[in-house]
Amino acid sequence: MAKKQWSNWSGMVVCEPSEIHFPTSEEEVVKIVQQAAEAKTRIRIVGTGHSFSHLVYTNDILISLDKLKGLIDVDKEKGEATVWAGTEIKELGALLFEHGLAQENLGDIDVQSIAGATATGTHGTGVAFGNIATQVIGLTLVTGTGEVLNISDTENPALFKAAQISLGVLGVIIKIKLKCLPAYNLEIKLVKSTFNETIEKLDHYNQENRNFEFYNFPYSETTQLRITNLTKKPPAKDGFKRYFNDVVMENGVFWVMCEFSKLFPTQSHKVSKLVAAGAVTTTKVNNSHKIFATVRNVRFNEMEYNVPADDYKMVIKDIKKRIEQRKYQVHFPIENRFVKGDDIWLSPAYDRDSAYIAVHMYKGMEYKRYFREMEEIFMAYGGRPHWGKMHYQTAESLETRYPKWEAFHKVRKQLDPEGIFLNDYLKRMFGEKTFLRGEK
Ligand SMILES: Cc1cc2nc3c(=O)[nH]c(=O)nc-3n(C[C@H](O)[C@H](O)[C@H](O)COP(=O)(O)OP(=O)(O)OC[C@H]3O[C@@H](n4cnc5c(N)ncnc54)[C@H](O)[C@@H]3O)c2cc1C
Repeated sequence: MAKKQWSNWSGMVVCEPSEIHFPTSEEEVVKIVQQAAEAKTRIRIVGTGHSFSHLVYTNDILISLDKLKGLIDVDKEKGEATVWAGTEIKELGALLFEHGLAQENLGDIDVQSIAGATATGTHGTGVAFGNIATQVIGLTLVTGTGEVLNISDTENPALFKAAQISLGVLGVIIKIKLKCLPAYNLEIKLVKSTFNETIEKLDHYNQENRNFEFYNFPYSETTQLRITNLTKKPPAKDGFKRYFNDVVMENGVFWVMCEFSKLFPTQSHKVSKLVAAGAVTTTKVNNSHKIFATVRNVRFNEMEYNVPADDYKMVIKDIKKRIEQRKYQVHFPIENRFVKGDDIWLSPAYDRDSAYIAVHMYKGMEYKRYFREMEEIFMAYGGRPHWGKMHYQTAESLETRYPKWEAFHKVRKQLDPEGIFLNDYLKRMFGEKTFLRGEK
């Protein structure tokens, strides 16, 4: 147990938990939860702290599963793997690969914990794939009373659709069972295009490729496409050169531009054009888990919304127009991704094929006016926020957007009757007014 300041990846969320625990077994997790429940003390759970929102914030107890990592069980024939919930996606990729398996899809970084990534509905891109939580076929949870529950389609099935994306409010997930694919290699092509052409050919790009996404740049007509497909080619042996270009150069040059923009925000539109002009055209082949991920060393704040796939083109055109009309001082590209709808109660892609649009602002630059106005556009099209990213919604606006909101709420109350897993941010989101010991 240790007491120290905690902050998230962006540095925006900072708190000082009274205790930080790193349990090494299921029994230890149960003990920590039972003691907290008896003392009526709140608990939050942290993965690797890559969420932008206040999900993890606590001045009470923080539990990290950093010491509960690795594979527990693999069934190669069935393509199933059970892992400790604290395992980082990067570690998981390597471990699965050793057993001839891989996750079917991933987001664009690989440093989150598998529990944290799934708990917020983290997603990649590809119209044939749901977000990462759709790969979860079972999990083990320590509830707010310290009870250990196995949850899947067949064990406690009434809880399963709530538990796949739970924001850490149903309890501590300690194990996750994933449906995997036989290991595969991917080829990614980075291609430059224009906004109009990308939008015109969007359906073609989405249907003809395994994974398609693109960036558009404020104040520029340039887009950068990321087109990814299966390949039988072996990984290219360009290790250090590739690392130097992709990680050192790309992040370094971009950081210099970001600092310039921060010092001279009125020049952001010019910086954005420069970033667009520098968008690279290249091809890479590697094992799937190494292709999905990029290294992000430049820190930023982010808002990302899910909108219905059918409305996507109107939304992105509105976003582009509004940035130019209002002259927002922003030079960060906008990321556009596409996912299949699913049946997970708190999934932003619940019951609809979806597009995700993400807007970013360099750390230290003013973002509120920009994000709020972008959010207005997203909301006008039935937008649902990414749970791990910034948004300004409350229970009233959220409950109407999630058909299973009330059902999730019931499960939450059943598994955590005292609300020990809620912080102020989550209370606002769930419209809860519970007070524990010493709180007003
Ligand atoms: C640079 C960057 C790139 C990103 N790229 C993407 C992307 O491509 N796609 C995308 O969708 N998102 C992306 N994200 C968002 C990120 O994937 C999510 O915020 C994710 O939740 C972070 O995982 P984490 O392990 O850091 O979890 P944390 O941020 O630490 O926690 C997230 C939530 O999970 C809960 N949680 C964590 N562990 C457990 C557990 N064991 N049991 C119960 N609850 C738990 C926490 O309580 C919290 O509510 C990105 C974020 C950053 C900073």
